[in-house]
Formats: sequence, C-alpha cells, structure tokens
Amino acid sequence: MRIIPRFSVYFLICFFLVACSSVTNPEEQNPPQVKNVILIIGDGMGPQQVGLLLSYARQAPHSVLPTRTTAFDRLLEHGRLGLSLTHAANALVTDSAASASQLATGYPAGAEMIGLDEFGNARENIVETAQRLGKMTGLVSDTRITHATPAAFAAHQSHRSLENEIAEDLLHTGPDVLFSGGLNNWLPQQANDKKSAIYRQLSSLIGSGIGFSSQRKDDKNLLELAQKQGYTLAFTKRQMQQAQDKTLGLFAASAMQNGIVETQSKNNPERTEPTLAEMAASALDILSKNNRGFFLMIEGGQIDWAGHKNDTGLLLHEMLRFNAMLEQVLDWAKKRDDTLIIVTADHETGGFGFSYSAHDIPAPRALPGAFFADKVLFKPSFNFGNPETLDKLYAQKMSYTDIFTHFDALPKNQQTPSRLAEWVNQNTAFAISETQAEKILATESNPLYRKGHPLFGAKRIPKMAVNSSFFVYQSDNRENLLAQAVATSQQAVWSTGTHTSTPVYLFVQGPKPSLKAFSKILHHTDVGRLAIEALQ
Ligand code: MG
Ligand code: ZN
Repeated sequence: MRIIPRFSVYFLICFFLVACSSVTNPEEQNPPQVKNVILIIGDGMGPQQVGLLLSYARQAPHSVLPTRTTAFDRLLEHGRLGLSLTHAANALVTDSAASASQLATGYPAGAEMIGLDEFGNARENIVETAQRLGKMTGLVSDTRITHATPAAFAAHQSHRSLENEIAEDLLHTGPDVLFSGGLNNWLPQQANDKKSAIYRQLSSLIGSGIGFSSQRKDDKNLLELAQKQGYTLAFTKRQMQQAQDKTLGLFAASAMQNGIVETQSKNNPERTEPTLAEMAASALDILSKNNRGFFLMIEGGQIDWAGHKNDTGLLLHEMLRFNAMLEQVLDWAKKRDDTLIIVTADHETGGFGFSYSAHDIPAPRALPGAFFADKVLFKPSFNFGNPETLDKLYAQKMSYTDIFTHFDALPKNQQTPSRLAEWVNQNTAFAISETQAEKILATESNPLYRKGHPLFGAKRIPKMAVNSSFFVYQSDNRENLLAQAVATSQQAVWSTGTHTSTPVYLFVQGPKPSLKAFSKILHHTDVGRLAIEALQ
C-alpha cells in the first residue's frame, strides 16, 4: 500500500522533469555526440594566406567566386574561431613534421620528427586512437602521402626525409583511405630497369598516366603488400571514385599537380588526376559507411610550397583549391550534427602580406563628397594598392617553379636575361625588365656553403640581396628573387623563404558542446589533444 503512492510520486516527478526539459532544451537532454572528426590542414596557411583568399573573394573585380564569400565564411555561420600557436618543442618556429606530429599526438615534438615526442619516443597518433575505437581512418593530401604532414598522422620516424620507411609505416598502420601522390616510394628499385618483368607488370597495373621511377633502395613492392592487406589500388580519378572500401590511391609519381595546373585542367574530360576536392569527396564516401564513425585528415599541402617560393599568384590558386575542397566537405556535413570539423594551418609560410608603398602613387582626383568640394582633391601620400591586382594574380598561367624548369630546359646559350623576361612576361601579368631578369640570374659564392650538405652544398648560388640565411632552399632562390622583382607591382611583400611563428586560425564547426574548447588561444598540442578527446 505504501509503495504504490511513492512510486507514482517518483513517476510524476520524472515525467515532469523529462517533459519540461524536452520542451525547454532538447539539446541539453540529449546533446549531439561527436562521431566523426575531420581535421583539415592548410600547410603554410597563416592568417595572411586566408586573408588573400578573402580579399580576392570580396574585392577582385572579376572574382571567380560568384557569391563573393568563401567556405571560411560558411564555416563561421555556425562555427567558432580560435587561435593557435604552432611552435615545435624548445623552439620559436616549427616545420610541418613537428607541427603535424603535435596535432596528431597532442605531445610537443622536435623539428623534423614524425610522430614522436620531443624526446624521440613514439606517441600514439589520432589514427591509431581512432582504430582502437573501431572507427575508420583516412589521410588525404595534394602533396605526396609520405610527405611530412600526412606522415605524422600514421608513421613514427626520426626524420621526415625517411619517406621509404614512412611508406612502410603507413602500410603497417593501415588507414582505410590513403589518397595522394608519391607512388615512387612504394615501388621496388628493380622497377627502374625497363627491361625487367616487374617494370612491365607495374606499367600494366599503374597505366600510362603516371611516369614512375622507384625511389626505394630495396626490392620491396609495397603495392603488392598493400593488396595483400586488403587495399584496393587506385591510380586515376575514376578508379578512386569507383572504390568502395579500403583504398590506397597514388595519383602522381611524386607531388600532385599544383593549384594553377588544377585550375587549368579542372574541366578537361581527359584528366585522370583527381582534384583535392574530389579526393575529399571520395574519402568521405568510403569512410561514412562505418556506423562507428571515422577520423579523416585532409591537407592542402601546396599552399606552403607557394609560400616558400614567394609565388603570390600560385598562392591564390592554392587557396582557391583549398576553398573548393572545404566547400565539398561542408556540403557533405550540411545535414549532420555528428561531425567535428577543425580547419587550421600547421604554420604560416613566407611572411606574406599586401602592403602600401611609395611606388606608382595614384594621381590626385576629385571626390563628390562635401569635404572634397571646392577644388580639394583626394590625394593619399602612398599607393594603397589597386584591387585589380587580385585579378592579375589570378591570371598567372604558370608557377614560378615551372617557369624556371622551362627556362633551365633551354639550351645553355639561350638561358639569357632577355629570354627569362620574355617567359615571365608571357606567363604572368607582372612584367619584369631585362635588367631585373639579370639580377634574378646573378650568382654569388655561397655564403652558407657546407660541404656535402643537401641544401647548402652548392659553391655558387643565386645572389640574395637581404636576409639570405632565411632563403634556405638555395636552388629555388631565383623564384624568391623574381618575387622581389615584382613586389611593388604586386603590392605584395614576402619576408622569408621559410616559416614564421604567426599564430594560425582555428575554424571549428560541429556539435555545439564540442566547439567552446577551441574558441581560445591554444597551442597545437592542445588542439591535438582536444581532437583526440572528441573522438572518444
Ligand atoms: Mg605538408
Ligand atoms: Zn614549409
């Protein structure tokens, strides 16, 4: 007798609580959980690189983005923004390997290490954590799959240059999706003998689209091992798009195409190399089949390469390629509330920015406003930059690297300043004179010479006017000198050929409770830890 009324009171109270809370706030009652984490890294994409895309979208007279908004605008409609410091352990600046290791493991890492902590010990990375949780995993990059950024998410090596070993590690860890370039590190060295059976076998497997040559120092055929492990192999866009589950997609011998080439070939029906957006879409198709969720890392890796070369037009195309990929991911995520999307950079590259100058100061002009009546002219003291510059940057037809590759292929006696100027002026909207070309081709005895050093081993190098210690990829210095020659006409300055310590943006979108922790000033080890925690 006494039990029944007490029972009914409890029942009433419970009913009341449930009813009230479901009326007032269903999310608090049943907050959406993070099932999937997508970490998107723009390599070298500091605030200034994002800013270039935003300036282009908003201000270019003929912007190719019709709404004049970007995927970043879209992210912040429902998402949040944070800032993150990127420095490697005991250092001011980071490289991509340490930065990606910190994001992948949540531990401080030393420069140039892959998947290790600052003392040199392997730490579990987020791919391994996700696998432990029964989730699927994927890595996508428009560089090559053994390059530092993707490598740090599934490999453990003392140095980023150990790409053959990294390929074996990737296979050992076995993410379900691996889409990038870098086929050469997966082929046995006998493949370089064009008379060998293995060369013929690989040629028919890979097809004619990729001219490969093994980078390995052993006879391991990692493609065969991958197949034994259950991977479907893909070497073309179509093969990738037909893939159903575990897939190793290697679409270029080394690096994939750059952003300008991607723009130019996007609508070519003959194209076999997938775009970054297409790789992201196929990865999401495969990974979203798992009802326990997934972790996916997508890298726009050549933003950094444009930054190292100080190639502003290429940088714009790389940012547009990143934007197209991000739109694709946001389309996929549109009707979901189970996916945390984190968009960040591993560091800034190049110290880029538009800047006002004393060059070509515009003529004074009349303005209709009251304060400029009576013959007062609008007459700024400097050139604050013409937005038409943005269209001219977009019009670049060839990357600086490709310009010099073409130049170097000329017979020696034709490698003259006038030929260089001609070639630059045909392929960019920022003309250089023969005198400027002469300066770009001038060399000096290497002030940083170190015998046998892979980067500083040349006796003569292009002559840098200032800060030559910061232009460490000495064989590329002509590209940086070209950037200096067009700086005033591009209204663009670059401060270095390497990375800077500028804090980078964190754009996050996903289930509300998971976002707040990112909307702060963090370090990339925090970001890594938060991403790992969100998965569990
Ligand atoms: Mg990278
Ligand atoms: Zn870099």
